[in-house]
Amino acid sequence: MIRENLRQVEENIIKACERAGREREEVTLIAVSKTKPLELIEEAYAIGERNFGENKVQEINAKYPVLPKDIKWHLIGHLQRNKVKYIIDKVSLIHSVDSVRLAEQIQAEAAKCGKSMNILIQVNVSGEDTKFGIREEETENIVREIAKFPNVHIKGLMTIAPFTDEPETNRKYFKKLKQLSVDIMKKNIDNVNMDCLSMGMTGDYQIAIEEGATLIRVGTGIFGERIYKNKLSDD
Ligand SMILES: *Cc1c(COP(=O)(O)O)cnc(C)c1O
Repeated sequence: MIRENLRQVEENIIKACERAGREREEVTLIAVSKTKPLELIEEAYAIGERNFGENKVQEINAKYPVLPKDIKWHLIGHLQRNKVKYIIDKVSLIHSVDSVRLAEQIQAEAAKCGKSMNILIQVNVSGEDTKFGIREEETENIVREIAKFPNVHIKGLMTIAPFTDEPETNRKYFKKLKQLSVDIMKKNIDNVNMDCLSMGMTGDYQIAIEEGATLIRVGTGIFGERIYKNKLSDD
């Protein structure tokens, strides 16, 4: 099943890139493996997938030690400051930085183990109040503050678009995030890079690619529906 799903997703990525006049290499697929067992991740790994996304620190901690070390782990869910220390040496990119205080904690933990951490700033471009992420208007100021941390490197922006059956309605949010990244890039802020745009999930990644996504986060489309034991912990 995973092989066929990955083949389908790959075909969709190629087509979306063609429609947008982009190179396939500009887009990285992140297989979102949250709630999924090791066997399924190993299956995707055997087919060649190397980028995996998780939204819980606890789950990365459980999976990281028993899976191959050349996997790139992406933390895509809300991160609490007191949990930064558990993932600082495990993940290659934190997509969900939404405050200067969180970045400050990442700076402290990164410095402690003598490394630097790549991050994205999560922006709530849709303005839905159920979503984490900073407001569009405050992005530049927050980026300027976080840019001062020497062990933290801003690589771009991330957004979670609303869940919808009509993916086309999310196009405007992807356009907004792209425009915001272009505006910030033009400011030439030291220690800030806007190469990465993490946007698009199973329902809307093809549209996100058309609008400039460089990282797409696909879970259901690869691994199938998620089953949550406790609905309260659903995201
Ligand atoms: C779960 C999740 C995804 C993947 O969602 P699908 O609809 O299953 O592709 C992507 N991004 C974030 C932040 C998530 O939490």
